Amino acid sequence: MSPDPTPATDVALRVDDVTKRFGHTVAVDHVSFELGPHELLALVGPSGCGKSTLLRMLAGLHTTESGSITLGGVVVDDGRTALPPERRRVGLVFQEHALFPHLSVADNVAFGVRDGDAEARVAEMLTVVGLAEYERRFPHELSGGERQRVALARALAPRPGLMLLDEPFASLDPNLRARIRDDVVAILRSTGTPAVFVTHDQGEALAVGDRIAVMRAGRVVQLGAPADVFHAPVDRFVAAFMGEADFLTRGEASGLVDERWPDAGDALVMLRPDDVTFTADERGDATVVAAEFRGSVWNYTVELASGSRVHAIRSHLERVPPGTTVTATVRPGHTPVVIAPSA
Ligand code: ADP
Repeated sequence: MSPDPTPATDVALRVDDVTKRFGHTVAVDHVSFELGPHELLALVGPSGCGKSTLLRMLAGLHTTESGSITLGGVVVDDGRTALPPERRRVGLVFQEHALFPHLSVADNVAFGVRDGDAEARVAEMLTVVGLAEYERRFPHELSGGERQRVALARALAPRPGLMLLDEPFASLDPNLRARIRDDVVAILRSTGTPAVFVTHDQGEALAVGDRIAVMRAGRVVQLGAPADVFHAPVDRFVAAFMGEADFLTRGEASGLVDERWPDAGDALVMLRPDDVTFTADERGDATVVAAEFRGSVWNYTVELASGSRVHAIRSHLERVPPGTTVTATVRPGHTPVVIAPSA
């Protein structure tokens, strides 16, 4: 195979028809996609759908069974021969940060730097991740978030052509998680490093990805911008996986149907809770049957005349007691979309 890859292409990564089986399990099933030079791709899907296996093939920790992987213009795996991880110029960050416990922060970060001035590169990377003062500390003297930032600095220090992150924040508590996540994304952007980011959390995928690849049973079932995947899901699986949704036929939607309702016969139409609103109306044909407090908003369950139920999010200031008779409508500017059944 060719020598170590060098970055000189407008495609950071090309995955072409890649498949991987473990015994009878098809973990990754004919997956293809490309990643732009500075792009962050979130790989999202339920547990067991093949995200980690795909990421590990990109890293070189698994070989592909068929198909090919091209990094920075160089084929690193063609289904027959594969370059080992250390020759792919990829940076890896996993959930468990796997720092060397007996090495200082500086030595951890210096570990993969082979060329040039390692000391300067370490200082630069620790500044980037906001830990310039921590050079001499050891991993056990750091918080979980700090350790994760050191892991990121270590992965970035050798100037990888691609960063691969597998549930990198899953071990952090929710508040820290959002902050560290934003830091990491900012660092990837400021260094112009493309990345593939595995998460099972749809909210995280929406927040982080320039594009999102939704996986199910080894396949990428939708690949697109976050807003498209959220608002125009290809099928009911993606619709339900990416966020709360109700699915109604035209008949079930009764009072909600207006000129915006798609003319799609008995097909199911998706409404997310922010698509629906209601006003108290004694002559209305819908009823608020439940109210769930979400802090900044209430999530109301509204029963329509058909007996079908939809959810409606309203400000925490707009308290409506269950039992209230209402008229439910689709919010101005929102468009109900037809949803195909899941394959
Ligand atoms: P995810 O990361 O989306 O949770 P994985 O890629 O870990 O999914 O797993 C995909 C499928 O492949 C699952 O059915 C899993 O049990 C199986 N699998 C993953 N790794 C191995 C392995 N080393 N040996 C056997 N089966 C595996």
